[in-house]
Amino acid sequence: MIIVLKPGASDSDIDHVLDRIKSLGFETMLSRGVQRTIIGVIGEEERLREIALEAIPYVEQVMPVLKPYKRASREFHEADTVVEVKGTAFGGGAFGVIAGPCAVESEALAFAVAEKVKAAGAGILRGGAYKPRTSPYSFQGLKEDGLKILRAAADKFGLGVCTEVMDTRDVTLVARYADIVQIGARNMQNYNLLSEVGLLEKPVLLKRGLSATIKELLMSAEYVLRQGNARVILCERGVRTFEDSTRNTLDLAAVPIVHKNSHLPIIVDPSHATGRWDLVEPMAIAAMAAGADGIMVEVHPNPEMALSDGAQSIKPERFESLMARFRQLAPGFSKTLK
Ligand code: PEP
Ligand code: MN
Repeated sequence: MIIVLKPGASDSDIDHVLDRIKSLGFETMLSRGVQRTIIGVIGEEERLREIALEAIPYVEQVMPVLKPYKRASREFHEADTVVEVKGTAFGGGAFGVIAGPCAVESEALAFAVAEKVKAAGAGILRGGAYKPRTSPYSFQGLKEDGLKILRAAADKFGLGVCTEVMDTRDVTLVARYADIVQIGARNMQNYNLLSEVGLLEKPVLLKRGLSATIKELLMSAEYVLRQGNARVILCERGVRTFEDSTRNTLDLAAVPIVHKNSHLPIIVDPSHATGRWDLVEPMAIAAMAAGADGIMVEVHPNPEMALSDGAQSIKPERFESLMARFRQLAPGFSKTLK
């Protein structure tokens, strides 16, 4: 349920409505816009009708929330959510860049890539220490040692850290090292994991599931938001289709659709979406053109030797030229690169 207050409603008017709703045991979410103040109410809508809200003079309108996701919906929260991490922002016109190797393979690799991506203008270093691999025999990540390396490399070059957590048992440990905790595509519907990261005071990067709809992605975000963590960044990383010339099919329409229906920022991962290094740059630029709030890109100095996802990793020089193109194009797309 959404309660729209008339322009000019005072703080005590707002408090009065909030108190009435809370006294019935409902949760509320206050959103103060430039023009209007909106109160979102979560709970059984029928019971809320016990209060004649429309009878309060400064209540303009009472409407049901039509979307199944509430906190994630733009109806509930009109203004764009901007997630800021260590000087890098996502949303509200800010275009944040996350770059780094698929996996933290070694100290030498993490430090070399961190130096290069920082020099090129990225704000956040990525790298998996817990890798969700199709085969149990493939490299699974360096676990806590990998987290330590990633943190040290990021700190040395003034970057933030984004890294994946796969298991509820590791959430506290991963959050100790990460600035952004990533939920991978395979775990997008791991509701226990989502609830757990919802308790963190760290932003969450939520990747779209391999065959998840946009609505399902937003419902998963709802699990995180519901726990009190409002800093969710969504990530379109391609979905499974019949097309086999790319690893997945990048669903760029997800970007404007999410912007229409949600206030949460959405970034694009052209690396996992295409599986091909030669498509990363055009799809990254297309993402900016579609209005994305940033990108996540895999960068590796020697992709041939990468322990995972070498075929989709771009070399640091190519990343540098991509960043230069972003800087050139950003003003035309009303984006600010930090
Ligand atoms: C990743 O970003 O490291 C990753 C495994 O991606 P996804 O979960 O999108 O497959
Ligand atoms: Mn990868």
